[in-house]
Amino acid sequence: MRKEEKEFYGKLSDNGVSRRDFMKFCTALTATMGLSAAWVPKVAEVFAAPKQRPPVIWLHFGECTGCSEATLRTMYPWIDTLVLDIISMEYHETIMAPSGHNAEDVLHASVKKNKGKFICVVEGAVATKYNGAYGKIGGRTFLQIANDVCKQAAATIAIGACATFGGVQAAAPNPGGYKGVGEAIGIKTVNIAGCPPNPINFVGTVVNFLLLGKLPALDDLGRPLFAYGKTVHDQCQRRGHFENGEFVTQFGSEEAKMGYCLYEMGCKGPDTFNNCPTAKFNDGTSWPVEAGHPCIGCSEPDFWDKMSPFFETS
Ligand code: SF4
Ligand code: SF4
Repeated sequence: MRKEEKEFYGKLSDNGVSRRDFMKFCTALTATMGLSAAWVPKVAEVFAAPKQRPPVIWLHFGECTGCSEATLRTMYPWIDTLVLDIISMEYHETIMAPSGHNAEDVLHASVKKNKGKFICVVEGAVATKYNGAYGKIGGRTFLQIANDVCKQAAATIAIGACATFGGVQAAAPNPGGYKGVGEAIGIKTVNIAGCPPNPINFVGTVVNFLLLGKLPALDDLGRPLFAYGKTVHDQCQRRGHFENGEFVTQFGSEEAKMGYCLYEMGCKGPDTFNNCPTAKFNDGTSWPVEAGHPCIGCSEPDFWDKMSPFFETS
């Protein structure tokens, strides 16, 4: 084992994470990325002995910061350390120490220094009406910042429903003219859709880039196919009940207790592409339908308008 790998596993152990737990995480991540088990040691190596640490500039626009929270806190308690070890986080308003003018200076300097080489991650939608007047940071509109920063990046990853397709800000009547960042400034983005997206889909996208030197294959909405290639319905553990016509018609009923299909409760799983049933949330503990709640279609464009009322069949 190389010196840096020894140090890595020592550091994990100091944080109370066993090598077994780490390998379990790498196995889950490899499977989520659609790679065979033979890739697990290579995926582990990306974390244990990173060959390159791409600079990342993470922008916040119209959003709730739930996607940052999801990525940095909820999956594995130590995933934040792993993520911050394999990338070089140059700018992230929620976790960086500088604020005000100092933070603005960091952003400008980082864009200049890493022009054409950094990955821009965008969390939040961009207001476009009245030249973007509905959203500003440091005197510049979201629209100006996105145009300035994203267009100088090697690639832009939009994380969450707001950055990908506009999210709740873009719901009717959308007075600010909010849009996903790709549509707002006319660029192609990698779209990690969901409200919030599963952090493993973001980590898988970054690891794919570090491991294979390219971004993952995307569907026609810019979503990585490894995560958004199949519908929730096609992977759902309740699918057998759907086929048998066994439905829940009331929460708290006997049918609900027996885990029957939630279609009659408004489940949008048949129209929603995401890997929630296999990737699950919170360290693979559960996912909304397993917990008894219908899918509301959060990884689809305009789901607030197109998928609601959430508790009625479409
Ligand atoms: S609960 Fe939803 S996703 Fe699962 S089988 Fe029923 S309709 Fe499909
Ligand atoms: S089950 Fe549906 S609503 Fe829930 S997180 Fe997955 S895609 Fe979004």
